[in-house]
Amino acid sequence: MSAKLLEGKPIAEKIKQQIKQDIEGLGRKPVLASILAGDNAGALAYVRSQQKNAEALGIEYCLEKLESNITEAGLVDFVRKLNQDKSVNGIIIQMPLPEQIDYKKISSFIAAEKDIEGMNPQNMGKIVFGSAKILPCTPAAVMELLKETAVDLCGKEVVVVGHSEIVGKPLSLLLLDKLATVSVCHIGTSKAGKLEEHVKKAEVLIVAVGRAGLIKGEWVKDGAIVIDVGINRVADKIVGDVEFEAAASHASWITPVPGGVGPLTVTMLMRNLVEAAKLQK
Ligand code: NAD
Repeated sequence: MSAKLLEGKPIAEKIKQQIKQDIEGLGRKPVLASILAGDNAGALAYVRSQQKNAEALGIEYCLEKLESNITEAGLVDFVRKLNQDKSVNGIIIQMPLPEQIDYKKISSFIAAEKDIEGMNPQNMGKIVFGSAKILPCTPAAVMELLKETAVDLCGKEVVVVGHSEIVGKPLSLLLLDKLATVSVCHIGTSKAGKLEEHVKKAEVLIVAVGRAGLIKGEWVKDGAIVIDVGINRVADKIVGDVEFEAAASHASWITPVPGGVGPLTVTMLMRNLVEAAKLQK
């Protein structure tokens, strides 16, 4: 392996120190309301990790448990109540939601100044204008990782694989804001047989698909920075979307999976909460 390992934890630790200072400046504990509808095991695992992170930072984490048969209208009413509650600084909705609930619809009801996942259309829209104060957590985590490499993104060939609303689309806009030359690949690119061609020209490669081994190590350009957002369980191991060992022999920097993007994502959520509390002040 010739690449340097781009780990999320040490960066997260630095950002946590800043969050702690900001909380002192606020003069009171910020409050995060976390809505959990039902008892999905995956959602519960996220809740535990968020709770641990929040407590370590001096953030009050209020878990709002709702029945799995709650109606969409009932959930909207609950969100509205939290919007009006002046003691609550940030609201998140745990995924997956019960099937009768449309996440997009519900997230649009969260007040923009309390939307610490940055998924409200108002906050998403601000990304287009480069004026967003609250960024979606995973794209924000990727931007922090890139900052750590000290790469100047201006004019760089950046290839983003994956165009979801939670990762690829907002991330592409953040990269454009840094004047990178951004190509966004997705399922259509693969269907057209053009994924390899695009990946091979990437000076910075960011992959968020959810398919182990999708990106062959030999496709990675010498000296490229590789950020693997993907999380896949393969034979009881967690791996990303990029063939790690082979890619690492070409790249200059590469994120491990787990240990790259993941540890930073939850820290971005806490940073957004403090930012939201500042905006509300
Ligand atoms: P998604 O399913 O919403 O989107 C997947 C994207 O991959 C789409 O743009 C789709 O077009 C593209 N795609 C699918 N098959 C493809 C193929 N064969 N070739 C090229 N593109 C293809 O997924 P998501 O929610 O954006 O998540 C993507 C991955 O990132 C998942 O593994 C998820 O677990 C992971 N993730 C990690 C974090 C983290 O904190 N580390 C956060 C969010 C998501």
